[in-house]
Amino acid sequence: HLVLGIETSCDDTAVAVVNSKGCILSEAVVKQDSIHARYGGVVPGLARQAHEQVIDELIERVLCEAFTCSQNEVWARSANGLDAVAVTMGPGLEICLRVGFRAAQRLLGRLKEASSAPGPVFISTHHLESHCLVPRLFGGYRPSFPFLVLLVSGGHCMLLLARDLGNFEVLGGTLDDSVGEAFDKIARLLGLDVGGGGGPALERLAREGNPNAFDFPIPLRKRPDCNFSFAGLKTAVRVAIERELERYGSRDETATLLQVNRQAAADIAASFQRVALEHLFEKTRRALLWCRTHEPDVQSLLVSGGVAANSVLRARFQQLASEIGWRLHDEEVERTAAWSTDPGAPACDLKQAIIFPPLRYCTDNGVMVAWAGVERLLRLGDAAGEPDIDQIEVVARWPIGRRLAMDKLEQR
Ligand code: ATP
Ligand code: FE
Repeated sequence: HLVLGIETSCDDTAVAVVNSKGCILSEAVVKQDSIHARYGGVVPGLARQAHEQVIDELIERVLCEAFTCSQNEVWARSANGLDAVAVTMGPGLEICLRVGFRAAQRLLGRLKEASSAPGPVFISTHHLESHCLVPRLFGGYRPSFPFLVLLVSGGHCMLLLARDLGNFEVLGGTLDDSVGEAFDKIARLLGLDVGGGGGPALERLAREGNPNAFDFPIPLRKRPDCNFSFAGLKTAVRVAIERELERYGSRDETATLLQVNRQAAADIAASFQRVALEHLFEKTRRALLWCRTHEPDVQSLLVSGGVAANSVLRARFQQLASEIGWRLHDEEVERTAAWSTDPGAPACDLKQAIIFPPLRYCTDNGVMVAWAGVERLLRLGDAAGEPDIDQIEVVARWPIGRRLAMDKLEQR
C-alpha cells in the first residue's frame, strides 16, 4: 500500500508518501514559525494564507519524488499507484484544516481526470491519533495495543490509553494550558528569538543556567490524578522575570531579561524547564504505575508531540525506565532489515519500553498522517475510505476519546 498524507491543522504545511512496510518514500514540511514569531502565537488568517501558498506545490513535489517521475507523468502515475490520500481533518484551526482538505479534493479530482483507474480512497485522520501512532513506524518495532501515550505538543498535554485504532481513553489532560504553549510563552517573556520555535530556544538557553536557582512549585503534586496545569507555573515564572528585571534595573522599559542579564534569564529558563518537565514526569509515572495494576497488558509508553524533542525530558525518562526495569528507545533507529525487506514478516513487538520517535517526527509532519492512513488501510481495507467526500467537513474540535472515570484512577 502507498499512502499520501497531508497535514495543515496548525502552522506546519506537511506532506509525505509512506508505504505499508514503513518506508518513507518522500516528505516535505514548510514551517511558519518565522511568520508568527512577532505575534505571540499562531495567527489563523496568516497560517491559512501560508498553507495555501505552498500546499499544491508540496503535494506535486512529494508525489514526483515518490514515483521518481516528472510533473507530466505524476498524475497518471499517482492515480494508479496511490492507494489512499490521508488528511488531517481535525482537531485544529478550522480554516487551516480546510486548506488541506480542499487540496486533497482537488488532487482526487485531478487524478480522476488523469486516469481511468479508480484512484486512491480518501481517509480522514485525527491529528492526535497520528501523533500517537507515528512511533509505531520506527525502529522496526510496532508496540502493540494497548499502550500508554504521553502526548505533549503545542496545543495538547495529555495521558492517553491507546486501546486500539480509533479507541483511546483519556487518563488525564490539562486544566489550563499545554506544556508546549508554556515553553513558547516563557521563551517570549525572556526575550528569546522564537523564530525557530520557543521550546528549542528555551532548551538551549537553559543549558547555560542553574535548574535549581529558582524554586518554582511543581504543579498539582498533591492531587491523586493524572491531570496537568501550567497556568500557575507560568505566572510564577512571569513574576520572577519581572522581579529580576527590576533588580538589574534597566531604564529601557522594552529591554528583556535576556538583554539585561543573560545569566539570570538562563537560570529562570533552566528552573522553569526542570519544574515543567518534572510535572510531566510525575504524572506519567503515576499513570504508568496505575496501568501496572489496572491495565497489566500495557507494556509500553510512547512519548510524542513537539515537547518530546526535549533532551532533558528524554534523560528523565531514562531514569524512569531504569527504575521500572524497562528500556528506553530514542535513537534515530533505522527501520530494521526484517521489516523493510520482507513485507510478510510481522513487525516485532516491543515490550516494556519507553519509546520516543525520532526528533523531527515529534512535531507536526506529513509522515505521521500518511502512517495513520496506512494503519487504517491495513486494518480496514477499502472500508477505511470515506464513501463520499462531498458529504464531510473538517472538525475543529474532535475529542480523541472518553475520559476514564476518575475514581478508577484514584484507587492507587
Ligand atoms: P497540537 O498537535 O497539539 O495541535 P502542534 O502540532 O502545534 O500542537 P507540535 O508541532 O507537536 O505542536 O509541537 C510544537 C510545540 O513543541 C511547541 O510548543 C514547541 O515549543 C514545543 N517544543 C518543540 N521542541 C521543544 C523542545 N526541545 N523543548 C520543549 N518544547 C519543545
Ligand atoms: Fe501537532
